[in-house]
Amino acid sequence: MENLVMMEYFEWYLPDDGNYYKELKSKAREIKESGIDALWLPPITKATGTNDVGYGIYDLYDLGEFDQKGNVRTKYGTYDELIEAIDALHNEGILVYADVVINHKAGADFKETFMAAKVNEENRTEDIEEAHDIEGWTGFDFPGRGGKYSDFIWHFNHFNGVDFDDKTGEAGIYRILGENKGWGYGVSPEHGNFDYLMFADIDHNNEDVRNELFRWGEWFINKVPIDGIRFDALKHIDYNFIRDFIAHLNEKSDRQLYFFGEYWMLDSELKRNYLEETGYLTDVFDTTLHFNLREASENQQYDMRNIFQGTMVYESPANAVTFVDNHDTQPKEALESFVQPWFKKIAYGLILLRKDGYPCVFYGDYYEIKDPYIPGNKDIIDNLLWIRKNYAYGDETNYFEKPTCIGFVRHGNEKHPGSLAVVISTGDADTLVMNVGADQAGKVYKDLTGENEAEITIDEEGNGAFEVAPGSLSAWAEKLD
Ligand code: CA
Repeated sequence: MENLVMMEYFEWYLPDDGNYYKELKSKAREIKESGIDALWLPPITKATGTNDVGYGIYDLYDLGEFDQKGNVRTKYGTYDELIEAIDALHNEGILVYADVVINHKAGADFKETFMAAKVNEENRTEDIEEAHDIEGWTGFDFPGRGGKYSDFIWHFNHFNGVDFDDKTGEAGIYRILGENKGWGYGVSPEHGNFDYLMFADIDHNNEDVRNELFRWGEWFINKVPIDGIRFDALKHIDYNFIRDFIAHLNEKSDRQLYFFGEYWMLDSELKRNYLEETGYLTDVFDTTLHFNLREASENQQYDMRNIFQGTMVYESPANAVTFVDNHDTQPKEALESFVQPWFKKIAYGLILLRKDGYPCVFYGDYYEIKDPYIPGNKDIIDNLLWIRKNYAYGDETNYFEKPTCIGFVRHGNEKHPGSLAVVISTGDADTLVMNVGADQAGKVYKDLTGENEAEITIDEEGNGAFEVAPGSLSAWAEKLD
């Protein structure tokens, strides 16, 4: 497949009705026809309840099969319904990526008493209390599953941090003490050491934990015919573990798996280092591009010539997953930083029509977000997907000429001859002269977005004066019938 596009097929406020897999199955054809090649599904593992999006992970071996946390199903349905949905997607040629949450566990079955030291939340390498016995929720024996698939029981020694002492009722970050125990090494240096994120933090240096997670990973790819994995919370997990985990799955898998993950960080050097330390086995989301897009959407003085500055897609294009927004940046969520609605067409043009990056369309931007209600941009994104699939090929020439008006040309390839001229304005109506190649002389270009009705004739040198409406994007090409 060429010009692959994936979609993050959920937003935070989907209804907790267990119908997600059934609806997904019925929509497989429609999704493929819109130009989506791969879906990133929400976590399919059992979380703290059916009202949990899935990141409050309870049991990795329960994919909606056991009566645990109040129900057999997850928020999205049962295991059988999941498999039916994936089969339907595969029948349409759509790849499926699972969201894997292995940084922490939540909703323990019992509490335990162990030694821990409270740390400074701003600097987790600094203890702020003498180590003492606390009561933490760290025991997981999964009574509803009864040892099926794995009889591993989680205890406090398999974790390295919790956020609550049940003995005193005190909240805070507690570092669990024990032999060879401490925060992980290859994690983000924010807050001194950002191993701890939430709930009971898994200790990836514990040999029993490593073996159990490797065993689980193997079981998981056999139990669910996924084509790849999206890792949650990468910057909170030792990169040595992630590298070994991926290598293990690659070795055990009979099919090609694609790995990508969330490394929520602006510092591009840290991200480059991350790619190196994980042996380039996993791609990462281009968070810098997201922040640039958001800033440009909020500040009309933003210099669009800098839109790719510091981004993954510019610095490490082969490993960048580009996106506009996601379930964490949508309003009311943890990392809220939402690209403004007027800018969505421009933002999606900048991820879907460019040469580099594996673009990821957000469900909430496409269909709608339920809380607070924000309408989607299905027609706009469908149109850009169609342009991507039919016209956005070959080399790229940039015309990043004015702070409020930039453009670029895609020169086509053997299979897709002809050029595509994209022009963007964040200010007034504007015109950019761009060269689409002397072989295009005399051809008549039209705006494939339908916004501008002009017909532009390419001159004998291959130049065209391409127009764009205020605060918009136009994509010009010789329209094929
Ligand atoms: Ca961690």
